[in-house]
Amino acid sequence: MKPYNYYSSLEKENTLCLLCSSSAMELLGVGDRYGMGIKTVSCKSCGLFFTNPRPTQLAMDEFYKTKYREFYESVEKPTIEYIKKGPFQARANFVANALKPYISSSDDKRLLDVGCADGTLLKTMSERFPGLSISGLEPNPNFASFAKQYAGTSNIFTGSLKKYLDDSKPENFDVITITHVLEHMPRPVETLLHLKSLLKEQGLLYIEVPNVLDNRVKGIGAVHIAHIISFYPKTFETCIKMAGFEIVEFFLEGLPAMTPSMAAIARPSEKVAYEFNLDISRDEIEKSQKQYKKNIFGVAEEAAKSRSFSMRRIMDYIKNKFS
Ligand SMILES: [Zn+2]
Repeated sequence: MKPYNYYSSLEKENTLCLLCSSSAMELLGVGDRYGMGIKTVSCKSCGLFFTNPRPTQLAMDEFYKTKYREFYESVEKPTIEYIKKGPFQARANFVANALKPYISSSDDKRLLDVGCADGTLLKTMSERFPGLSISGLEPNPNFASFAKQYAGTSNIFTGSLKKYLDDSKPENFDVITITHVLEHMPRPVETLLHLKSLLKEQGLLYIEVPNVLDNRVKGIGAVHIAHIISFYPKTFETCIKMAGFEIVEFFLEGLPAMTPSMAAIARPSEKVAYEFNLDISRDEIEKSQKQYKKNIFGVAEEAAKSRSFSMRRIMDYIKNKFS
């Protein structure tokens, strides 16, 4: 089955803005990495870019269970070789360096990595900060069991964040990391609120997501089924503040990732969730839309194909898989 047909066959739903619940939106464009026909819209009120219509939660759950890893990273089970080829270690080093001013290496603290994948970040954090006790959660069983071995901990929960909250009685954490996960979440503010409930009062949250307005983003390869939200600095900041966090530090440069990314370190604030006045102007939204269209649709697909270490490999894999 061709990717377009696979995507067409998924049950979909129309949605209000995932940040501000506005129903006023406009189409930014149709197109994505695999030629599935994904539509990206922009909220007229807060400027969020997201997929609409999007596959239903049920369809996405099934997708993540059976197709996500093979589509997206072309592996079903991680290996040391896979980790070495990817940007994972460089990414983990960046996170450890970013958090260094906030954690001393001897601190007896608890860290949770949400969406810990192969466990590279957990392993790196426990090596850099020997006092940290590490936990992870990962929905994919192959990745979760690999992470246990690789990071050397049995504290890896296999399942979603919601299941983790429902099934276990987790203690509160001093640090939570969530890298390249929030852009997959249908209710990003709610996800951050869940994390807030898992954090100590003075706890720290490190969040990293792709930045679609980065000048280095070139071509529709940056748009794909799993990323239902396309954040840029303003909407990323809005999302974090809406969940009642204050931003302590913001990172726009030097993040190693397949897609140019941004990150923030945030703390729970006194502010009540959702009580946040949008401070984005119509001009700012229009400027962001223009930049998005230039980044995503302004270059030939060929340029997108050759732009990153694994893009060509993934494209070939998908082509073989579906032809
Ligand atoms: Zn909105």
